[in-house]
Amino acid sequence: MKTVIMAGGKGTRISSIASDIPKPMIRIDGVPVLEHEINSLREQGFNDIIITVGHLGQVIIDYFGDGSKFGVNIDYYFEDRPLGTAGALFQLKDKLTEDFLLLNGDAIFEIDFNKFVKYHKEKGGLVTLFTHPNSHPYDSGLIFVDDNNMVIKWLNKEDVRPEYYKNRVNAGLHIISPKVLDQTFTTEKIDLDRQILKPLTEIGGMYAYDSPEYVKDMGTPERFYQVEKDYKSGIVNMKNLCNKQKAIFLDRDGTINKYVGFVKSKDQFELLPDTASAIKTINEAGYLAIVITNQPVIARGDTTYAELQEIHDKMETLLGKNGAYLDAIYYCPHHPHKGFEGEIPELKFDCECRKPKPGMLLKAANDLNIDLSQSWMIGDSLNDILAGKNAGCMTALVNNPKDSYDEDINADTLLDAINIIINDKKLVNKR
Ligand SMILES: [Zn+2]
Repeated sequence: MKTVIMAGGKGTRISSIASDIPKPMIRIDGVPVLEHEINSLREQGFNDIIITVGHLGQVIIDYFGDGSKFGVNIDYYFEDRPLGTAGALFQLKDKLTEDFLLLNGDAIFEIDFNKFVKYHKEKGGLVTLFTHPNSHPYDSGLIFVDDNNMVIKWLNKEDVRPEYYKNRVNAGLHIISPKVLDQTFTTEKIDLDRQILKPLTEIGGMYAYDSPEYVKDMGTPERFYQVEKDYKSGIVNMKNLCNKQKAIFLDRDGTINKYVGFVKSKDQFELLPDTASAIKTINEAGYLAIVITNQPVIARGDTTYAELQEIHDKMETLLGKNGAYLDAIYYCPHHPHKGFEGEIPELKFDCECRKPKPGMLLKAANDLNIDLSQSWMIGDSLNDILAGKNAGCMTALVNNPKDSYDEDINADTLLDAINIIINDKKLVNKR
């Protein structure tokens, strides 16, 4: 598959760090961002690269040449006039005869490209957008999908948004079919997001690929310094799904939000005081933060799938306002005992996912390449601890001072448990 890297941006907001070189040549740990990208592509078998250059582009051409020194083939497209973020693709139409990867030359990312491509092929759409949760969804554009992950709504950051929403942001990496280029515009300057991608939400055919991998643009000096710190600490690499992941699995009711019995609607959902700090700490340490929750309210007929989604949207919105995010949410809608009024009979069976069974953790491990022996299950009840043990994880009991179920850590709150796991290595290694 060919890869097109857009490296023509001007990057004025970051000029305090480097004003005389193009943004893709800014060095992270001594190596230009674009070189990190090219190395990662080559290692995964993506050797055929086209780079679009503009402002100060000669610096890029002089550095990379034809790519042979870097083990790849590089062609260039030089923008001698402003073409917007997609104009160059139309100029390159003859070379783009098959689905291609379109990447942003001034973001740092480490992703499993083959997993992304496999997903694109399975969906069979015109475009697959790489989407992820981020630490500032409140000022990011948002992507909304249907049950099959087809994109049905695209909000820019300035658009009015619902009160509660899923933290799903476009990361700026795409796989695109050349069919998308079979359209004509009245100007040569074309905006990728607004003129090409957003209109696909009306006609269908664009899918979102949700991934917890590291993708961050370096649009501001603060983000640049954060990226550099994450790169040096190894987090950028570690989160590539080619590598085994470490996760912290979190029970929901009584662990993340106040325990009120069954939560049947979003109004009953209230975060516990330190939850956002705890989850932010997980995010920054490079662990995946994954919710694992039994929700028999669905089988009982108390709550619909749509209402459960609203509850989860509220959870993600409240966390997002405090800079924290969840990498995934797994829930069990089943319940084993039949014979109640209003229940949904087909969900009343003895499933493999309801905690204390480990089904949800095993599924997450399979989806996201998680090493369960390096991961933790945290909850406030016996079923959480048993599910963690059944999956081969380490366990922590929180918000439950009176009980003990042979867990590895017993802490007063989720934040205390997270601080012990992440900061007190001695205690963890004792096991
Ligand atoms: Zn289940």
